[in-house]
Amino acid sequence: MKVVLPDNSELELPDGATGLDAARAIGPKLAEQAVLVRSNGNIQDLRAPLADGQEIQILTTRDTHDPDALSVLRHSTAHLLAEAVRRLYPGTKIAIGPPIENGFYYDFEFPEPIGEEALERIEQEIQHELEEGRAWNREEVAAEQARSYFAEQGEEYKVELVDTADGPITMYTQGDFTDLCRGPHLQDSKPIKAVKLTGLAGAYWRGDEHNTQLTRIYGTAFYDQADLDAYLEQLEQARARDHRRLGTQLDLFHLSDHAPGMPFWHPKGMVIWNALEDLRRRENLKRGYVEVKTPLLYDVGTWVTSGHWEKFKDEMFIVPYSDRELGLKPMNCPGHMLLFGSDLRSYRDLPLRYAESSTLHRNERAGTLHGLLRVQHVTQDDAHMFVTPEQIEEEIFGCLDFAAYLYDLFGMEARFELSTRPENKLGTDEEWDFTEGALKNALERRGIDYTVNEGDGAFYGPKIDLHMTDVLGRSWQMGTIQLDSQMPARFGLSYMGEDNAEHTPYVIHRALFGSLERFIGILIEHYAGAFPFWLAPVQIRVIPIGEAHRAAAHRLADELGDYRAEVDERNETVGKRIREAEVEKIPIVILYGDKESDESLAVRERGGEQSTKSLSELREYLATL
Ligand SMILES: [Zn+2]
Ligand SMILES: [Zn+2]
Repeated sequence: MKVVLPDNSELELPDGATGLDAARAIGPKLAEQAVLVRSNGNIQDLRAPLADGQEIQILTTRDTHDPDALSVLRHSTAHLLAEAVRRLYPGTKIAIGPPIENGFYYDFEFPEPIGEEALERIEQEIQHELEEGRAWNREEVAAEQARSYFAEQGEEYKVELVDTADGPITMYTQGDFTDLCRGPHLQDSKPIKAVKLTGLAGAYWRGDEHNTQLTRIYGTAFYDQADLDAYLEQLEQARARDHRRLGTQLDLFHLSDHAPGMPFWHPKGMVIWNALEDLRRRENLKRGYVEVKTPLLYDVGTWVTSGHWEKFKDEMFIVPYSDRELGLKPMNCPGHMLLFGSDLRSYRDLPLRYAESSTLHRNERAGTLHGLLRVQHVTQDDAHMFVTPEQIEEEIFGCLDFAAYLYDLFGMEARFELSTRPENKLGTDEEWDFTEGALKNALERRGIDYTVNEGDGAFYGPKIDLHMTDVLGRSWQMGTIQLDSQMPARFGLSYMGEDNAEHTPYVIHRALFGSLERFIGILIEHYAGAFPFWLAPVQIRVIPIGEAHRAAAHRLADELGDYRAEVDERNETVGKRIREAEVEKIPIVILYGDKESDESLAVRERGGEQSTKSLSELREYLATL
């Protein structure tokens, strides 16, 4: 038989040859380093037979960042975990142990519950196994043989898995531990260079709450210790930046079951909120938008007209009213359509840009809510532009320019994705050629690199999605710019053209922050709570050294009254008050004692840098921040 290698060359092998045989035929070094066969996107154990004509790629210990190579390593480590647990805790029953994103888990039924402190001991036992070395043996067996093996061991979960399995049954053995498993597995444990058990959780057998609750042990493994170190460092950074933790620590907001998924904003959080609102308003004004305000509740008929009732009904809150029902708006579009339709419009009125930062409500399933990142109470920096076909490109250009300006302001790298006509599109291919072309031209003219998601547009038009990459390299979907030819028609909107005939306008839906709630959540994590000076809830804190300096400290704070300045005159040591200002991440702290005067102020910046400045020098400096 023959198999096809990645360079399209063919390799002759005896019938029934395995991936390992193929590796050996190519070279002993490859055979030694091989961890897995990949074939047309599927993964296969090295010891499983290949088919005639099969295309194969052999992954090795050098593919240290390949997701498939990592998953076979991690799943093999899960088997080492099960072996360790069975040895340390006799009587433990084992359930399942698959690889997951960034690691693996294994579910156990322990005779006595274990705590987090047990993880270290189990991890050491895995280290012993690695030092001794383990090799995996793969065996295809009859169901009855597998069943009686696990029944004898009292492994009732494995017996149930055998009974419900379809296809051939395979068992993998390492040392004196045998597990029921489809594989694939490593040849041996040598490539496993770094293991970490990361946590414990409860999990029901087969995810069903009527079943026994098992203990799930999570872990991860890598081909290289440095990769594990980098991963743990990133986890630690993400934990330190968690916006829910920082939201409490910095007194910005809280969430409560009184209003699920609807944040309570504290005074300091509102400073950030209002700074973003001011920014939005100022830029909108500069860029020719007009601000409007439309109702929160609309008759259900309005939602039927807009199409939301058909597509979005389950995510809407419905409120009874007299003998009918009103829907709380999940989007501003219908309100803006009705506003446009409330008067006669001419081509001279276009483009007409309605901006509204309104509160929207979306009925999200309880389990999906997550801090500020997924809320039910959404405040979008929304706008709708009504345009003629000729104005589309210029208007999209304006949106892109606006978005690039905003993301740059926050030091975030923007990424743009253009989504094109889907299968269920409305309108002709000529119309789509025109609209997609307008979006592409705008992107290229603004000098923006973008990727194309073929077929991912909405049925009513193409769109551009905006993503940002934060300092940890995590990508977030932010705003969206969507061209729409359908909703204006559904609402019967028209304008009088230059030709004295009525035309249906196009509308562009756009939000650049996305939602303020989510945007602030992302900003908190991006800055790790250390906001730039212009956004910081408290910009300056004056600390009088002793009681005698309080009056002077207040006078100084008043002098700096055009900034958000305050005095910390509590009866605490200076050291403690400085430390607390650091925890609160306040950008500028001024100490005021006997030696200080308006001519000589002790200024301490966030991060620890200290200097002496006169009041006028300080003012000059602050103006640069
Ligand atoms: Zn396995
Ligand atoms: Zn809209």
